Amino acid sequence: MSNRINRREFVLAGAAAVGLGETGEAFSNAPAVIVPSVAPVVISDRSGVTFKNGGTQTCVEKAFELITRGEDVLDAILAGVNIVENDPEESGVGFGGTPNADGVVQLDSCCMHGPRKQAGGVAAIEGVRTPSLVAKAVMEHTDHHLLAGQGAQDFARNMGFTIEDDLNTPRTRDRWLEWKRRTDPGHYLNPAQRARHGYQVALEMLAEGRVDESHFWGTVNCDAIGPNGDICGVTSTSGLAWKIPGRTGDSPILGAGLYVAGSVGACGSTGRGEANLYNLTSFLVVENLRRGLHPKDAGLAGLRRIKENTIEGRLLKGNGDPAFNIRLFALNAKGEYAGVTMYASGETSYGVCTENGAEQARLEPLLEGSPTD
Ligand code: ASP
Repeated sequence: MSNRINRREFVLAGAAAVGLGETGEAFSNAPAVIVPSVAPVVISDRSGVTFKNGGTQTCVEKAFELITRGEDVLDAILAGVNIVENDPEESGVGFGGTPNADGVVQLDSCCMHGPRKQAGGVAAIEGVRTPSLVAKAVMEHTDHHLLAGQGAQDFARNMGFTIEDDLNTPRTRDRWLEWKRRTDPGHYLNPAQRARHGYQVALEMLAEGRVDESHFWGTVNCDAIGPNGDICGVTSTSGLAWKIPGRTGDSPILGAGLYVAGSVGACGSTGRGEANLYNLTSFLVVENLRRGLHPKDAGLAGLRRIKENTIEGRLLKGNGDPAFNIRLFALNAKGEYAGVTMYASGETSYGVCTENGAEQARLEPLLEGSPTD
């Protein structure tokens, strides 16, 4: 039998626990507690509502179930994100993530606990399928917010995580070999040519449908609010496909790929990480929520900031708009939420789970068309 309870049952259970009479009056000796007032919501990018790792639940369903059972919101969304990280079919995250230019899977992740005002992250970590759990360990067991590279892996080993030699799957290795074969067997071009050539070949492979857009980039972001208003968020990714080794995107950087302010809201992102690093967009969106903007308007304002600040010719289409896509997912303390995207084409949906179950909701675009038209 399912342990899920609906919001009404939850509120009634909460009322019983705090000693409310049938008419709602407080018993004279009842402790002062906050009666639950928010309908729990979990949101995610599309991977959080599509990948199941051979099981029965997606990330948002798992997180929602655990939240309604009373689990800590961060633990609940981490359990959801772990499903995506462990799924070898999701080639933008965790085990079976897309490797860097040297064929090594390097992962980025961070998490934020709204009510505790704690956060942790890892960047360019190798050999651990679930970097989000290492991010949580950084949060809980160190005085720091971010560990990178070999140090992050050493820390994970010391914390008892299994370290694997290779997180590639046959599929991700085949794709990388194809990319390597096409760019240059030895990668001994001069750096400018190499970067340009590598990117062009990657775009060619995208156009041929060998890898879809969401896996050329590709991240899981999951944010949630629990019934008592606790807000938390997590991101996890293998980052840009075939990136320069050591390249770290926005996903592990607080304020860039994820930001949570306990009493205000959360924002996470997928897409071109450099745009979020430059604009600290997740922080900006949460500050917009703080000013009272609805998550949709806060998110669109974040995308507009990215558009305004993108002026380098190599990043622009002929009409002067950004030549890349980026998506933001935001929720506020009232449980309102939205997903927005720079372009209408490409990924068009994101994940949501409420008491009505999981669904794919429509991303609101800032611009019509696509980054490449
Ligand atoms: N934002 C990630 C990064 O730049 C990739 C993605 O979400 O697609 O590393």
